Amino acid sequence: MAVQIALEELERALPQGRIERGEEIRRAHAHDYWAFEAIHDVGGNPTTPPPAVVFPESTDEVAKILTIANEQRCPVVPFGLGSGVCGGVRPGGEALVVDLSRMARVLEVNDQAATARLQAGLNGAACERLLNERGYTLGHFPQSIAVSSVGGWVATRASGQLSTRYGNIEDLLLALEVVLPGGRVLRTFPAPRAATGPDLRQIFLGSEGTLGIVTEITVKLSPKPEHQDGFAVRLPTWEDGIEVTRELLRAGWRPAILRLYDGVEAQRNFSAWFPDQAPLLLVMSEGTNEMQGALELEIAAARAACLRRGGTDLGREPLDKWLGHRNHVPSWADLLGNGLVVDTIEVAATWDRVGPLHARVTEAIGAVPGVLVASGHTSHAYTTGVNIYFTFVGQATEEAEQERIYTGAWAAAMEATMACGATIAHHHGIGRVRRDYLPRELGEVGIDVLRAVKRAVDPNGIMNPGVLL
Ligand SMILES: Cc1cc2nc3c(=O)[nH]c(=O)nc-3n(C[C@H](O)[C@H](O)[C@H](O)COP(=O)(O)OP(=O)(O)OC[C@H]3O[C@@H](n4cnc5c(N)ncnc54)[C@H](O)[C@@H]3O)c2cc1C
Repeated sequence: MAVQIALEELERALPQGRIERGEEIRRAHAHDYWAFEAIHDVGGNPTTPPPAVVFPESTDEVAKILTIANEQRCPVVPFGLGSGVCGGVRPGGEALVVDLSRMARVLEVNDQAATARLQAGLNGAACERLLNERGYTLGHFPQSIAVSSVGGWVATRASGQLSTRYGNIEDLLLALEVVLPGGRVLRTFPAPRAATGPDLRQIFLGSEGTLGIVTEITVKLSPKPEHQDGFAVRLPTWEDGIEVTRELLRAGWRPAILRLYDGVEAQRNFSAWFPDQAPLLLVMSEGTNEMQGALELEIAAARAACLRRGGTDLGREPLDKWLGHRNHVPSWADLLGNGLVVDTIEVAATWDRVGPLHARVTEAIGAVPGVLVASGHTSHAYTTGVNIYFTFVGQATEEAEQERIYTGAWAAAMEATMACGATIAHHHGIGRVRRDYLPRELGEVGIDVLRAVKRAVDPNGIMNPGVLL
């Protein structure tokens, strides 16, 4: 078998201790945080773990791994910290998993350029802590910051909770180093901007391990914020919240947080202020002390816009509650153990198409037998549109029934999203859960181009087969 031959060669080519075959480690790399896998784990039918996990400690070692794997036609699945939620990691018994977690250093902080070079396996929270010590923030705060890697962020095109102010990962990524199948290393040039043909970074942003292994990234830094202000407001309708968000962005304001919850989620998460169901908007601005005046103006503009729409100012407390709990990571196993099938689905639309999106997707998911409730909030706003992050809760105790609810809810959400002219994925990626819907969004020509890139970069098809395409 290709994987066994590759492993024998890797034993000879790599320093000792790089290849782990223990049961526990293999099981921990059998899949990512995809809720679908949790259903089968809890149901007693877990997916097959990989035969071994390789832990490289340098770019050269990654190059050796991808040289040997390519020669042996051995499938390879890159692994950051396994927090992906779309099924991007599912090696099965015939692929090697390459875990980047031993490549986790901040290689350089360049104070003059305000950039940092990071190894891809660096934990997101550790990265932010180290940058804070130097007076910076990356400004990238996915809810999973403590359980995801900086390379994983690039591989999945991730978004942080404060993206409206700092940008998404594609805005923060100045350059990257990626090892291609066969072992060649691509290093893109770190420039503030360049007109040197198509931007090669974009090919690897969101490539989900299907084109190579990202080993290093150079990111843009911002000064660590010293001043933070914000408030929460109760609004008469969801549409009022959407309009306030659009107006503020259109006027040029960039608050770090503009987060609109529908009535169901406002009541679920902020019950002290919402005995009934009404939409809630959280607003927060942050920056340096020098910017304090501008930030106060931003908050005043946001408050005025909310009040014009009939909003009721709830002060700072709901915002502080959210800030205190924002990185809570739910355990699928606990929820499933209680008979609850839960997942989240994030999509996005331009302002002209966002109108019916919330109602149509929640109605479609809610119509799936076994679904108890579907709800949504916005978390990333742009001058051109906004995302909606849907959550559904279903009830079932049997594995087969849980799977039926799960796949039914996803199919309903994807169809309703496409019917509204919205994109099927805002920031979690494609993986396996959205793979069959991607051709409908990219179109035949788009898929052909993606396949041609895949063939050119990975002619033997060893990189993360089954994901994306
Ligand atoms: C509770 C929770 C909250 C979340 N919140 C957010 C959020 O706010 N915003 C957001 O964007 N996402 C969020 N996610 C999703 C997830 O954290 C992101 O997709 C994250 O970027 C994955 O990083 P990782 O290191 O864990 O990658 P993994 O799960 O290990 O891998 C994800 C995919 O990327 C590939 N990959 C990983 N590392 C590399 C590499 N170095 N080179 C090439 N390919 C690689 C893998 O093969 C796989 O296909 C959340 C997940 C959870 C569980």
